[in-house]
Amino acid sequence: MSERTCSRCNQTKTTDDFYKRTDKRGPGFDCWCKDCRIADSLKYQAAHGCSSGKSKYIPKKSMYLNREKEENFMKYMKENPYYFRSVFHMEAHENNIKRAFQGVA
Ligand SMILES: [Zn+2]
Repeated sequence: MSERTCSRCNQTKTTDDFYKRTDKRGPGFDCWCKDCRIADSLKYQAAHGCSSGKSKYIPKKSMYLNREKEENFMKYMKENPYYFRSVFHMEAHENNIKRAFQGVA
């Protein structure tokens, strides 16, 4: 069993404590030990609030809000068809209201 020195914490550990990785030079071991990799990914998660890189795109909440907005819009326009007609120049039918909502949303 061979040993490696972690380039992050500078501790010498057995290769069991390093993740295997393959790069251009062929199979080898990570230059950081597992503890450091884990510590680093936890730090990343804490800093970004998410382990995946897709955290910027959070559609669920906004989709819900849009849906709620659409329902409110539909309800309001059905109750006020004259207002709808004067603003959108269409009959206050469900399909028209939906189309109008998509146009303004
Ligand atoms: Zn280390």
